[in-house]
Amino acid sequence: MDKPKEIESVEWDDVEKTWKTKKILVEEYHGFTECRYCHRPLSYNIKSDGEFKVVYVKCACTRT
Ligand SMILES: [Zn+2]
Repeated sequence: MDKPKEIESVEWDDVEKTWKTKKILVEEYHGFTECRYCHRPLSYNIKSDGEFKVVYVKCACTRT
């Protein structure tokens, strides 16, 4: 799989009760965790803005 340069992350907005997507630029890519059901990426381990973080994305089975 190619290393993504940009990830569309999803976050649950508790105020608006909706999923928010946000583009995150990837500085360093350190792999991903796959969904145990659909085997698509569920979260990425990356460095962005000089910080290591886990970025959640929508896997195939959470698409609405
Ligand atoms: Zn899934």
